[in-house]
Amino acid sequence: MVGRNDLCPCNSGKKYKKCCLNKDKKNSMLQQKVDFSQKHDITTTQKLYAYSRKDKFYDEYINAQHKFYIVDDKEINSKFNSFFNTYYLQDYITSENKTIAISFFEENKDKLNIIEKNILKSKLKSYITIYKILNIEEDKAVLKDLILDKETYIEDINVLKDLKAGELIIGRTANVVEVNKFIDTVLSISERIKDVIIADINNIYEKNKDVYKQMETFLIYNTNIFYKYIQQLIEPKIGEYLKEKKTTSNTENNNIEKQVDTKKIDDSQEVCEVENLITENIEDAYKEAALTIWEEYKNNNEVKGTENGWASAVEYHAKKEDGVNVTQSAIAKKYKVSPSTLGKRYKEIKSVHKI
Ligand SMILES: [Zn+2]
Repeated sequence: MVGRNDLCPCNSGKKYKKCCLNKDKKNSMLQQKVDFSQKHDITTTQKLYAYSRKDKFYDEYINAQHKFYIVDDKEINSKFNSFFNTYYLQDYITSENKTIAISFFEENKDKLNIIEKNILKSKLKSYITIYKILNIEEDKAVLKDLILDKETYIEDINVLKDLKAGELIIGRTANVVEVNKFIDTVLSISERIKDVIIADINNIYEKNKDVYKQMETFLIYNTNIFYKYIQQLIEPKIGEYLKEKKTTSNTENNNIEKQVDTKKIDDSQEVCEVENLITENIEDAYKEAALTIWEEYKNNNEVKGTENGWASAVEYHAKKEDGVNVTQSAIAKKYKVSPSTLGKRYKEIKSVHKI
């Protein structure tokens, strides 16, 4: 552990506090944020995956495989396992005209916490596209979406560690628990491949314009087009196979997906303001405990009074239980309520929530 007044480990000859301290702090905060997002992304996806493998989805699973894979070769296809899982959970449309993620959300609405709901929601609107890396900075990488012609950024910069500004990638991004990040692996591509794909995508879009109206919507519902490119790019044998079949473009293999109503999931969201306040204000380390406390309380008790009052009491309670040394007045201030309001709500929560 380097002290504030020690010489900076970067050998600049300056004191740590005058040199790399702030940068290091920023990096470790970002890392914590990314780790938190990653952890919850993994657990939520595991739950969703377990749900998707229920017997009732057996036929859907087989059907999704038929739609996704180009060749019938277990060994080759095993290379695309993680892509297939994303497709099957997020994009594949079942006979009930829903994605698996939407069915999961609808069936488990009451059991999911706000973090899980947000993860499911954010991925619904994600799509695959081609990005040009504009700039890789300390805490983010700026990307340009070359199909939608708009800029965005990602914060899980580790994913791009072998790449440089100016390079082209195929990727899928989403905002997962307040972190803009890639879902799925990214694939680096050449200028020529980029041109071919963009021309192809525009071409298919033009033919289906009346259905989708916007390119973004088109991309959201047709990730399978990109997953087919990805398979061809990763496995050269697939390109040969398509050539033999005299399939000039992979579009002929594609059934354009119809649109499902994702608004359903938005409408059913009903995130209460207290959850939002907690999520926005509390540090990541206490977020889960606080949301659980609130979830339990809210489901079993009548809630009256200001949301800020409740949120402040939940944060206080969560920290107290964790043995943190905090005062009611400090937290009350953070939520812009009086300490007495916090105290009152805290008593109510504590009386029910006993561990
Ligand atoms: Zn330094």
